[in-house]
Amino acid sequence: MSYAVTLIPGDGIGPELSDATRMVLESTGIGFDWDIQDAGEATIEREGTPLPDRVVDSIRANGVAIKGPITTPVGSGFRSVNVALRQALELYANVRPARTMEGVATRYADVDLFIVRENTEDLYAGIEHRVGPDAAESIKIITRAASQRIARYAFEYAVKNGRRKVTAVHKANIMKLSDGLFLESCQQVAADFEGRVEFEDRIVDNMCMQLVQKPELYDVLVLPNLYGDIVSDLAAGLVGGLGVAPGANIGERAAVFEPVHGSAPKYAGQNKANPTALILSGALMLRHLGELKAATAVEAAVREVIATGTTVTYDLGGSAGTREFGEAVASRIATTA
Ligand code: NAD
Repeated sequence: MSYAVTLIPGDGIGPELSDATRMVLESTGIGFDWDIQDAGEATIEREGTPLPDRVVDSIRANGVAIKGPITTPVGSGFRSVNVALRQALELYANVRPARTMEGVATRYADVDLFIVRENTEDLYAGIEHRVGPDAAESIKIITRAASQRIARYAFEYAVKNGRRKVTAVHKANIMKLSDGLFLESCQQVAADFEGRVEFEDRIVDNMCMQLVQKPELYDVLVLPNLYGDIVSDLAAGLVGGLGVAPGANIGERAAVFEPVHGSAPKYAGQNKANPTALILSGALMLRHLGELKAATAVEAAVREVIATGTTVTYDLGGSAGTREFGEAVASRIATTA
């Protein structure tokens, strides 16, 4: 049996990271039927849009995609492909695990956070307008339905993965109606999980301070869109930065797995960038497909190669190329299978 998966190589460093990731995922012995779909800069010239309909159709049909980063041209009038994909496929949960790894220099040795960010509303609903020449308004949308859906995702994740606590993050002391509704929705969902998962809440500014001082106190965090965007980058920084931070966008009918980082154009085509974040996004995809053993094997192999430290990329203090790192991970998986 093989899985039909949409593969979007992406822009900049995306194609080389995708090649390394494919090699690693295939080394698990699981069959993939890759449906390769270009999107981004190349398709703007050829097809007049960075996100042709065929890409969304392919993800809808397969239900699963893995995606390299895509450049968002500044000021060209094109919308971000990433935001457009999330909206078109209603990928309501953006999830980012942040876990320290031996061999990656970090301030703390024992960070293990799982960030769940609401992905469809808040200030990202894109409802903004100018009020005359010197003022602008942006409207923050929070609904009970979307807030409860994301809270339920966080609690169900906690139960399924043996996590002990969910912390809701908000600014309900100031935005009493909008963030107040988010918090109230989380409290309502928490009641259904009482006795199984602990629940608490934190005001977002305090949360940021606590995370940089005592990250080990936190477990699963659930946040509205904007705070989620910011706090998840903070969490990526706690565990070693962009090169090692995986992510996923999950909906009811489709899921897109992608690294947190962008297309890093200055390293494009140099066999230099670290493919860890995309490889670990691939491990999240394996987990989503129910291939838990393979997912664990990929994660363990990445950890071992990084801990050994002889075949790591420049950002982790080594001189290995993207391809060589991928080969080292794939051969470790093959020898332990
Ligand atoms: P970036 O993440 O591409 O790069 C910032 C810096 O981080 C790089 O210069 C590099 O030093 C380092 N870096 C990033 N990924 C790395 C890796 N895998 N290995 C080693 N070092 C790595 O951020 P940027 O320069 O702000 O954005 C470049 C483009 O990417 C922009 O067009 C932006 O819109 C886009 N972007 C796309 C996504 C996405 O597709 N999901 C996410 C973020 C940014």
